[in-house]
Amino acid sequence: MFLEALRPNVYVDAIGQISLEDLSNRGIKGVIVDLDNTLTEWNKDQIPPEIEGWLRVVREQGFGLCLVSNNAKTRVARVAECLDIPFVYKAGKPRRRAFRQAMDLLGTEPGSTAVVGDQIFTDVFGGNRLGLYTILVVPISRHEFIGTRMMRQLEWLVLRHLFPKT
Ligand SMILES: [Mg+2]
Repeated sequence: MFLEALRPNVYVDAIGQISLEDLSNRGIKGVIVDLDNTLTEWNKDQIPPEIEGWLRVVREQGFGLCLVSNNAKTRVARVAECLDIPFVYKAGKPRRRAFRQAMDLLGTEPGSTAVVGDQIFTDVFGGNRLGLYTILVVPISRHEFIGTRMMRQLEWLVLRHLFPKT
């Protein structure tokens, strides 16, 4: 069924709830992370301390990190440079190209790569298309791009179908 292509492997309330032990047990070596509403509020540069802390632990445990965002170069580069991690901008998610580029940067394969993001139709669908391990997080803010806000309504319907109890 088409909706299954939208189902994340894991759905968490906050990025800090992602089990790194679980990722490691699954053979994950690289983590592709979305930017807006996953690491920062939409179009803001500031990363909340708890998320920054999580990113630090991810790196300390030896995972590679790559930022993949549909946003513009200056915006994505600024955050990526602060974090000192590689990035792909104007990614065109859910297209597969940017995920492949990120895996090249990470030196990983679909089976050893996870993707973390707040949107079903871009992050999860795009990752699932390539067979990555997909992790959906609840967006950190309700403030977002108008186009995204419209997609959220559809997303809500999909989430209600995929996760009837939530
Ligand atoms: Mg996002």
